[in-house]
Amino acid sequence: MVRADRVCKNFGALQVLKGITLEVKRGEVLCLIGPSGSGKSTFLRCINHLEQVNAGRLYVDGDLVGYREKNGKLYEMSPRDAARQRRDIGMVFQHFNLFPHRTALENIIEAPTRVKNLKRADAVARARELLDRVGLADKADAYPAQLSGGQQQRVAIARALAMDPKLMLFDEPTSALDPELVGEVLGVMRELAASGMTMVVVTHEMGFAREVADQLVFMDGGVVVEAGNPREMLANPRHDRTKAFLSRIL
Ligand code: ADP
Ligand code: MG
Repeated sequence: MVRADRVCKNFGALQVLKGITLEVKRGEVLCLIGPSGSGKSTFLRCINHLEQVNAGRLYVDGDLVGYREKNGKLYEMSPRDAARQRRDIGMVFQHFNLFPHRTALENIIEAPTRVKNLKRADAVARARELLDRVGLADKADAYPAQLSGGQQQRVAIARALAMDPKLMLFDEPTSALDPELVGEVLGVMRELAASGMTMVVVTHEMGFAREVADQLVFMDGGVVVEAGNPREMLANPRHDRTKAFLSRIL
Protein backbone atom coordinates (compact mmCIF):
# COMPACT_ATOMS: atom_id res chain seq x y z
CA MET A 1 0.00 0.00 0.00
CA VAL A 2 2.95 2.30 0.69
CA ARG A 3 6.41 1.90 -0.76
CA ALA A 4 9.14 4.42 -0.11
CA ASP A 5 12.35 3.94 -2.03
CA ARG A 6 15.17 6.24 -0.90
CA VAL A 7 12.80 9.16 -0.36
CA CYS A 8 14.53 12.50 0.18
CA LYS A 9 13.04 15.80 1.16
CA ASN A 10 14.79 19.07 1.87
CA PHE A 11 13.62 22.54 2.76
CA GLY A 12 16.20 24.76 1.10
CA ALA A 13 19.57 23.70 2.47
CA LEU A 14 17.99 21.67 5.28
CA GLN A 15 17.92 17.99 4.42
CA VAL A 16 15.06 16.49 6.38
CA LEU A 17 14.55 13.07 4.80
CA LYS A 18 17.79 11.47 3.67
CA GLY A 19 16.68 8.36 1.87
CA ILE A 20 13.76 6.69 3.60
CA THR A 21 13.08 3.16 2.41
CA LEU A 22 10.17 1.20 3.82
CA GLU A 23 7.09 -0.73 2.84
CA VAL A 24 3.62 -1.08 4.33
CA LYS A 25 1.56 -3.96 3.02
CA ARG A 26 -2.19 -3.79 2.64
CA GLY A 27 -3.85 -4.28 6.04
CA GLU A 28 -0.63 -3.63 7.96
CA VAL A 29 -0.04 -1.12 10.72
CA LEU A 30 3.33 0.61 10.82
CA CYS A 31 4.27 2.69 13.85
CA LEU A 32 6.86 5.38 13.33
CA ILE A 33 8.84 6.68 16.29
CA GLY A 34 11.78 8.99 16.68
CA PRO A 35 12.93 12.20 18.33
CA SER A 36 11.37 15.55 17.59
CA GLY A 37 12.71 16.95 14.32
CA SER A 38 13.66 13.57 12.87
CA GLY A 39 11.29 13.99 9.90
CA LYS A 40 8.31 11.84 10.90
CA SER A 41 5.66 14.45 10.10
CA THR A 42 7.44 15.39 6.90
CA PHE A 43 7.35 11.78 5.78
CA LEU A 44 3.60 11.51 6.43
CA ARG A 45 3.07 14.84 4.68
CA CYS A 46 4.91 13.53 1.62
CA ILE A 47 2.60 10.51 1.49
CA ASN A 48 -0.39 12.83 1.68
CA HIS A 49 0.74 15.38 -0.94
CA LEU A 50 1.29 18.13 1.60
CA GLU A 51 4.97 18.08 0.63
CA GLN A 52 6.65 17.03 -2.59
CA VAL A 53 9.58 14.61 -2.37
CA ASN A 54 12.82 15.85 -3.95
CA ALA A 55 14.41 12.52 -4.77
CA GLY A 56 13.62 8.84 -4.53
CA ARG A 57 10.23 7.35 -5.21
CA LEU A 58 7.13 7.11 -3.12
CA TYR A 59 4.21 4.92 -4.12
CA VAL A 60 0.74 4.53 -2.66
CA ASP A 61 -1.18 1.50 -3.85
CA GLY A 62 1.22 1.18 -6.77
CA ASP A 63 0.85 4.79 -7.92
CA LEU A 64 3.77 7.19 -7.82
CA VAL A 65 2.92 10.05 -5.45
CA GLY A 66 3.09 13.59 -6.79
CA TYR A 67 4.72 12.74 -10.11
CA ARG A 68 3.91 10.92 -13.28
CA GLU A 69 6.50 8.93 -15.08
CA LYS A 70 6.95 9.01 -18.81
CA ASN A 71 9.81 7.41 -20.72
CA GLY A 72 11.79 7.09 -17.50
CA LYS A 73 11.42 10.79 -16.69
CA LEU A 74 9.40 12.30 -13.88
CA TYR A 75 6.96 15.15 -14.36
CA GLU A 76 5.11 16.95 -11.62
CA MET A 77 1.57 15.71 -11.32
CA SER A 78 -1.31 18.06 -12.09
CA PRO A 79 -3.14 19.41 -9.04
CA ARG A 80 -6.19 17.55 -10.22
CA ASP A 81 -4.44 14.17 -10.31
CA ALA A 82 -2.83 14.91 -6.96
CA ALA A 83 -6.25 15.70 -5.48
CA ARG A 84 -7.58 12.44 -6.84
CA GLN A 85 -4.75 10.46 -5.20
CA ARG A 86 -5.17 12.34 -1.95
CA ARG A 87 -8.85 11.51 -1.73
CA ASP A 88 -8.01 7.91 -0.88
CA ILE A 89 -5.79 8.84 2.04
CA GLY A 90 -7.14 9.87 5.42
CA MET A 91 -5.03 11.88 7.82
CA VAL A 92 -5.49 12.60 11.50
CA PHE A 93 -3.42 15.33 13.12
CA GLN A 94 -2.28 16.01 16.65
CA HIS A 95 -4.56 19.04 16.91
CA PHE A 96 -7.78 17.54 15.49
CA ASN A 97 -8.28 20.43 13.01
CA LEU A 98 -12.07 20.25 13.08
CA PHE A 99 -14.07 23.16 11.65
CA PRO A 100 -15.01 25.02 14.85
CA HIS A 101 -18.27 26.49 13.53
CA ARG A 102 -19.64 23.17 12.36
CA THR A 103 -21.16 20.38 14.37
CA ALA A 104 -19.58 16.94 14.56
CA LEU A 105 -21.98 15.70 11.91
CA GLU A 106 -21.36 18.66 9.61
CA ASN A 107 -17.62 18.17 9.96
CA ILE A 108 -17.98 14.58 8.83
CA ILE A 109 -20.24 15.20 5.83
CA GLU A 110 -18.25 18.15 4.50
CA ALA A 111 -15.73 16.29 2.33
CA PRO A 112 -18.04 13.53 1.07
CA THR A 113 -20.65 16.05 -0.10
CA ARG A 114 -18.18 18.60 -1.50
CA VAL A 115 -15.47 16.34 -2.94
CA LYS A 116 -17.36 13.16 -3.72
CA ASN A 117 -20.70 14.78 -4.53
CA LEU A 118 -22.46 12.39 -2.21
CA LYS A 119 -26.13 13.29 -1.61
CA ARG A 120 -26.60 15.00 1.72
CA ALA A 121 -29.00 12.35 3.03
CA ASP A 122 -26.56 9.56 2.17
CA ALA A 123 -23.64 11.44 3.69
CA VAL A 124 -25.64 12.05 6.87
CA ALA A 125 -26.60 8.39 7.17
CA ARG A 126 -22.97 7.34 6.73
CA ALA A 127 -21.78 10.02 9.20
CA ARG A 128 -24.19 8.68 11.83
CA GLU A 129 -22.82 5.16 11.31
CA LEU A 130 -19.28 6.47 11.73
CA LEU A 131 -20.16 8.46 14.84
CA ASP A 132 -21.63 5.29 16.27
CA ARG A 133 -18.48 3.40 15.37
CA VAL A 134 -16.29 5.87 17.27
CA GLY A 135 -18.68 5.82 20.24
CA LEU A 136 -20.20 9.27 19.67
CA ALA A 137 -23.68 8.50 18.36
CA ASP A 138 -25.13 11.06 20.77
CA LYS A 139 -22.76 13.90 19.79
CA ALA A 140 -23.82 14.49 16.19
CA ASP A 141 -25.05 18.01 16.92
CA ALA A 142 -22.28 19.06 19.28
CA TYR A 143 -19.76 21.70 18.24
CA PRO A 144 -16.06 20.92 18.71
CA ALA A 145 -15.79 23.32 21.67
CA GLN A 146 -18.47 21.29 23.45
CA LEU A 147 -16.45 18.09 23.11
CA SER A 148 -13.44 16.83 25.05
CA GLY A 149 -10.13 16.46 23.22
CA GLY A 150 -10.63 12.71 23.01
CA GLN A 151 -14.10 13.16 21.56
CA GLN A 152 -12.84 15.73 19.05
CA GLN A 153 -10.12 13.37 17.94
CA ARG A 154 -12.66 10.57 17.50
CA VAL A 155 -14.76 12.91 15.34
CA ALA A 156 -11.61 13.67 13.33
CA ILE A 157 -11.08 9.95 12.78
CA ALA A 158 -14.72 9.55 11.71
CA ARG A 159 -14.31 12.50 9.35
CA ALA A 160 -11.28 10.90 7.72
CA LEU A 161 -13.10 7.57 7.40
CA ALA A 162 -16.07 9.24 5.72
CA MET A 163 -14.02 9.43 2.52
CA ASP A 164 -13.53 5.65 2.55
CA PRO A 165 -9.74 5.90 2.50
CA LYS A 166 -7.57 2.93 1.65
CA LEU A 167 -4.81 4.27 3.88
CA MET A 168 -4.94 6.17 7.16
CA LEU A 169 -2.12 8.36 8.45
CA PHE A 170 -1.97 9.43 12.09
CA ASP A 171 0.46 12.10 13.24
CA GLU A 172 0.78 11.90 17.02
CA PRO A 173 -3.00 11.59 17.41
CA THR A 174 -2.90 11.38 21.21
CA SER A 175 -0.04 13.76 22.02
CA ALA A 176 -2.29 16.74 22.71
CA LEU A 177 -4.69 14.81 24.94
CA ASP A 178 -4.95 14.66 28.68
CA PRO A 179 -3.69 11.23 29.78
CA GLU A 180 -7.13 9.96 30.77
CA LEU A 181 -8.43 10.59 27.23
CA VAL A 182 -5.67 8.77 25.36
CA GLY A 183 -7.22 5.32 25.81
CA GLU A 184 -10.50 6.10 24.07
CA VAL A 185 -8.70 7.31 20.94
CA LEU A 186 -6.28 4.38 20.91
CA GLY A 187 -9.28 2.08 21.34
CA VAL A 188 -10.87 3.43 18.17
CA MET A 189 -7.55 3.09 16.31
CA ARG A 190 -7.15 -0.46 17.58
CA GLU A 191 -10.58 -1.40 16.21
CA LEU A 192 -9.78 0.27 12.94
CA ALA A 193 -6.59 -1.78 12.67
CA ALA A 194 -8.52 -4.94 13.51
CA SER A 195 -10.97 -4.13 10.70
CA GLY A 196 -8.07 -4.39 8.24
CA MET A 197 -7.29 -0.74 7.61
CA THR A 198 -3.74 -0.01 6.46
CA MET A 199 -2.28 2.53 8.87
CA VAL A 200 0.89 4.54 9.37
CA VAL A 201 0.96 5.92 12.89
CA VAL A 202 3.46 8.34 14.36
CA THR A 203 3.13 7.74 18.07
CA HIS A 204 5.04 7.35 21.26
CA GLU A 205 2.39 5.09 22.76
CA MET A 206 4.57 2.03 22.98
CA GLY A 207 1.80 -0.19 24.37
CA PHE A 208 -0.20 0.48 21.23
CA ALA A 209 2.83 -0.11 19.02
CA ARG A 210 3.64 -3.37 20.76
CA GLU A 211 0.11 -4.75 20.53
CA VAL A 212 -1.16 -3.35 17.26
CA ALA A 213 1.75 -2.63 14.94
CA ASP A 214 3.11 -5.14 12.46
CA GLN A 215 6.23 -3.03 12.04
CA LEU A 216 8.00 -0.53 14.21
CA VAL A 217 10.30 1.97 12.54
CA PHE A 218 12.72 4.18 14.45
CA MET A 219 13.78 7.30 12.58
CA ASP A 220 16.50 9.71 13.59
CA GLY A 221 18.03 12.54 11.62
CA GLY A 222 16.01 11.78 8.48
CA VAL A 223 17.02 8.14 8.17
CA VAL A 224 15.52 4.84 9.29
CA VAL A 225 17.87 3.68 12.01
CA GLU A 226 16.09 0.46 12.86
CA ALA A 227 12.92 -1.32 11.81
CA GLY A 228 11.31 -4.58 12.67
CA ASN A 229 8.81 -6.50 14.71
CA PRO A 230 7.72 -4.21 17.57
CA ARG A 231 7.98 -6.78 20.34
CA GLU A 232 11.46 -7.85 19.29
CA MET A 233 12.66 -4.31 18.75
CA LEU A 234 11.32 -3.03 22.07
CA ALA A 235 12.74 -5.99 23.97
CA ASN A 236 16.03 -5.97 22.09
CA PRO A 237 16.91 -2.75 20.31
CA ARG A 238 20.08 -3.27 18.29
CA HIS A 239 21.30 0.27 17.71
CA ASP A 240 22.59 2.58 20.41
CA ARG A 241 20.45 5.42 19.13
CA THR A 242 17.32 3.26 19.39
CA LYS A 243 18.30 2.15 22.90
CA ALA A 244 18.91 5.73 24.00
CA PHE A 245 15.61 6.92 22.54
CA LEU A 246 13.57 4.09 24.03
CA SER A 247 15.15 4.54 27.44
CA ARG A 248 14.01 8.18 27.36
CA ILE A 249 10.38 7.48 26.48
CA LEU A 250 9.65 4.15 28.21
P1 ADP B 1 9.13 15.36 13.47
O1 ADP B 1 7.72 15.21 13.05
O2 ADP B 1 9.89 14.07 13.51
O3 ADP B 1 9.25 16.09 14.78
P2 ADP B 1 9.32 17.18 11.23
O4 ADP B 1 9.11 16.35 10.02
O5 ADP B 1 8.19 18.00 11.70
O6 ADP B 1 9.90 16.25 12.40
O7 ADP B 1 10.52 18.17 11.00
C1 ADP B 1 11.80 17.75 10.58
C2 ADP B 1 12.66 18.96 10.32
O8 ADP B 1 12.16 19.65 9.18
C3 ADP B 1 12.69 19.97 11.45
O9 ADP B 1 13.99 20.46 11.53
C4 ADP B 1 11.73 21.04 10.97
O10 ADP B 1 12.08 22.28 11.52
C5 ADP B 1 11.94 21.00 9.48
N1 ADP B 1 10.76 21.44 8.72
C6 ADP B 1 9.56 20.84 8.69
N2 ADP B 1 8.71 21.46 7.86
C7 ADP B 1 9.39 22.51 7.35
C8 ADP B 1 9.08 23.57 6.41
N3 ADP B 1 7.87 23.63 5.85
N4 ADP B 1 10.04 24.45 6.13
C9 ADP B 1 11.27 24.37 6.69
N5 ADP B 1 11.63 23.42 7.56
C10 ADP B 1 10.71 22.49 7.88
MG1 MG C 1 5.95 15.69 13.97
